[in-house]
Amino acid sequence: MANPLLTLPYESALADLGADYYDPVTAATFPEHSLRFRNDELLGKVGLKPEGVSDRDFIEAFGQFQDHQPLLALRYHGYQFRNYNPFLGDGRGFLYGQVRGTDGKLYDFGTKGSGPTPYSRGGDGRLTLKGGVREVLAAEALHALGVNTSRTLSLIETGESLYRGDEPSPTRSAVMVRFSHSHIRFGTFERLSYIKRPDLIRPLLDHVIAVYYPHLQSIADQQDRYAQWFADLSERLATLVAQWMSVGFCQAVLNTDNMSITGEGFDYGPFAFMDEYDPRFTAAYFDYSGLYCYGNQPGACYWNLEKLAIALTDIIDKPNLEAGLAQYQPKYAEVFSDRLRQKLGFTPDLSLALSAIAARDLLTHTLDLLEKTHVSYPDFFATLTRQFDPNWQNDASLILAPTLEKSDPAAVELLHQWRSHYQHCLSQLPAEKMSDVQNCLQATNPKTVLLRSQIEAVWAPITEQDNWQPFYELLKKVRNPMKD
Ligand code: AMP
Ligand code: MG
Repeated sequence: MANPLLTLPYESALADLGADYYDPVTAATFPEHSLRFRNDELLGKVGLKPEGVSDRDFIEAFGQFQDHQPLLALRYHGYQFRNYNPFLGDGRGFLYGQVRGTDGKLYDFGTKGSGPTPYSRGGDGRLTLKGGVREVLAAEALHALGVNTSRTLSLIETGESLYRGDEPSPTRSAVMVRFSHSHIRFGTFERLSYIKRPDLIRPLLDHVIAVYYPHLQSIADQQDRYAQWFADLSERLATLVAQWMSVGFCQAVLNTDNMSITGEGFDYGPFAFMDEYDPRFTAAYFDYSGLYCYGNQPGACYWNLEKLAIALTDIIDKPNLEAGLAQYQPKYAEVFSDRLRQKLGFTPDLSLALSAIAARDLLTHTLDLLEKTHVSYPDFFATLTRQFDPNWQNDASLILAPTLEKSDPAAVELLHQWRSHYQHCLSQLPAEKMSDVQNCLQATNPKTVLLRSQIEAVWAPITEQDNWQPFYELLKKVRNPMKD
């Protein structure tokens, strides 16, 4: 029987753009192949039935890279920690192929850890197994929390020993296949601007619009279409960052080579979900100044968008770029406010019943409380959800009462103030809406958050006894985070 992963109707949308955007490469050969993760949910998206795809099929296609060409290392540059780096590009991955989903959208299969390319620059082209495990968990967790993200199609352990400064070494190796909308990055455009090839920017932009922003194709005037595209991208990025912020996620490496042109999050390295609320929380150990700390993420992504605008100035008129940039902050504020209000139990519908002042103050008071008390961000909302009682509407002294008894005196005072604001908002709703508030809390606030300690707890049995069971259990929980 033919391998269904090899016989998918792969398209060549990116390859057809021409040889200036990539280099054909070959994959490394690995000594061993053990399938550690396969994402059956994604098979359905490309029209395959999981029972029709064997583990061996995964290994042949995404571990041995049998019978499939071309494999394209994509060319890109990027700003890394604010410095321009023209020596980037796919250094340990390639675009394996592109497939039309059953939803009509085009999906990329992109590898990570598949061997060296012309862009490896001394690197080994490999991925550590732990890095792969972390990306699988991050993507599934974010997806389940309603964050726009790439996913992972497969993770195959490859039997090599790797040496890394940030992991006890030697450490195990793996190759991953990512499933995402696109691997075209801000840095893909920045490279073309840097090498002074506006003639290559325009076809790439037309391609991006045709494939990933097809609703804009009907705008006849080219300049209007480009302007609207940049405004849309700006809003998509603002939405993504607002999603990260609301779930307490710190992406950690917000370089422009990690910014997708579709506004989808991807490439999860030293990311972390924040426990104790702290805007200065920084996830990457090498981010000494906290440039990409949790609270800086909205500004860092805006900075990236500004750099992209500069790279596009030969193609898109400056006022249009400025108008697009101006969409970012209001969109961010809108989405973040909506999502934070939902974490407090107020769906957009319920929020309409609040006075504008009450709706605004609820957010500022909540953020103020979180910051001053340094409480655990996930615990605060999980506790609110668990303890919620419709009687809170009438009696502020009941709100979080069991928690208050255990808090320190300074926090108690702040919580007293906060709960009177919260009660004020609840009291603006009719009594019969309290069940909607409860449902909203339960649907929004996870019981399981992928804290670093949890990843370490499942990594220990893998590395000590090759026991994968705790990993699969955690995966199940982060995929259904609102369940027990
Ligand atoms: P990242 O931090 O994973 O976004 O990677 C940044 C850049 O470094 C990309 O161009 C990668 O392809 C490259 N890179 C990262 N790790 C390796 C590696 N082990 N070997 C070769 N290139 C790498
Ligand atoms: Mg990257």
